[in-house]
Amino acid sequence: MRPELSDYTHLSAGKVREIYEIDDETLLMVATDRISAYDISLEPEIPDKGRVLTATSVFFFNQIDFPNHLAGDIDDERIPEEVLGRALVVKRLKMLPFECVARGYLTGSGLKEYKESGTVCGIKLPEGLTEASKLPEPIFTPATKAEQGDHDENVSYEVVVDKLGEARASQLRDATLQIYSQAARIAEERGIILADTKFEFGLDTDGTLVLADEVLTPDSSRYWPADSYEEGKVQPSFDKQYVRNWLTSPKSGWEPGGTVAPPELPGSVVEATRERYVEAYERLSGEKFCEWLGTCV
Ligand code: ATP
Ligand code: MG
Repeated sequence: MRPELSDYTHLSAGKVREIYEIDDETLLMVATDRISAYDISLEPEIPDKGRVLTATSVFFFNQIDFPNHLAGDIDDERIPEEVLGRALVVKRLKMLPFECVARGYLTGSGLKEYKESGTVCGIKLPEGLTEASKLPEPIFTPATKAEQGDHDENVSYEVVVDKLGEARASQLRDATLQIYSQAARIAEERGIILADTKFEFGLDTDGTLVLADEVLTPDSSRYWPADSYEEGKVQPSFDKQYVRNWLTSPKSGWEPGGTVAPPELPGSVVEATRERYVEAYERLSGEKFCEWLGTCV
């Protein structure tokens, strides 16, 4: 008999995931269908999003050659029936307080800093780069994890060294860039550009560095279709850019940054967003999402 979710102590609720305690060494991470944009939770949820994110993470954990936090199969008997397919049994780690971002292309907060100072997280870049430019080589651009509701803040490598010491900082940087290049190669084979991605690492009881959290999902990564890639333009992407675009279009009548809550997403936007998450998973993994759900006919 599988346990009920209510048998476990609920430890925390993030914007997307709920964490439960299985025992001293093990956690249950449940990915919900919640979606946030501009750091605000939106209504309604995106059906299947938690399952697609879980499937995507598991695919990459299995592909990437680096110790990860998985501590059970996807149908592990410790997973309650009600969250099967969206929950992972993971090693409980001491999380390191940085978001480890790797960027192979310039966009978002990286481009913003570059325009102001010619640098990203203090790393000097060549002149003349623009939106979506490919960088000479991928760079490590850490950020500090913000408290809930706040934006993450980009920091320089020196800030990581000050906090964790040179040995650990360089290990984090090397791991981040190594995992990024493995994943970018897999995506490239599928006609997808991994523009940037964020990892979180934790330490095992014996001090081993372990890849944790979700990995290489559209929520933690920017994926661009390679066939329409064009430097100088904002790229269409497989993440929630679709939702962001709708929210900031005249159709929604909403503006970010104010005090007004965003409007409810129309059915068509919910469906198109779901499709994008599913398409990203299927293209990257080469698997059918219905296989994951066990609903293929
Ligand atoms: P948000 O994403 O809403 O900004 P969040 O990142 O804190 O907040 P979630 O991503 O929903 O929330 O939840 C995942 C949480 O679990 C994160 O705080 C992450 O650092 C933590 N976490 C991930 N893997 C592990 C692990 N193996 N052991 C302990 N904590 C973990
Ligand atoms: Mg998170």
